[in-house]
Amino acid sequence: MTDPDCIFCKILAGEIPATIVGEDERTVTFMDINPATRGHMLVIPRTHAADLLSVDAEDLRAVAIASQRQAVRAKELLRADGVNLVNSCGAVAWQTVFHFHVHVIPRYVDDPLRLPWVPVPGDPAEIAAAAQELAAAPRT
Ligand code: AMP
Ligand code: ZN
Repeated sequence: MTDPDCIFCKILAGEIPATIVGEDERTVTFMDINPATRGHMLVIPRTHAADLLSVDAEDLRAVAIASQRQAVRAKELLRADGVNLVNSCGAVAWQTVFHFHVHVIPRYVDDPLRLPWVPVPGDPAEIAAAAQELAAAPRT
């Protein structure tokens, strides 16, 4: 399935250019045009799905495995010191392109990226309350 209005589907169709660095039966990996660090890649399924909540389970598995493959390549070939895998699901979570994708962001000792939140201990009662809401449905 493709979405004629989706920029990543257009990349898959060859209608707009992209620097493709990896592919398999279910996924394609290309360079992000606004790299957070050197070597920032995006892994996408060939089949259009808007986000994490709607992507086909087999495609999700394939994207996860391809992301691991590209993370290994980033360490070996770009000499990255670490890697972040990032997925944003929903506009409120910073998603801007609504074709499911995983960012593979090589990390370097001196790179400028920082956590977008400051870890501070939470209120135990509030943590427990959220857990209780989650526990309202059977555990999976
Ligand atoms: P997100 O904000 O998590 O939805 O990520 C979308 C990513 O797609 C951003 O990091 C953009 O820089 C990237 N992007 C948007 N258009 C293109 C394009 N034509 N080629 C490569 N990367 C793109
Ligand atoms: Zn698409």
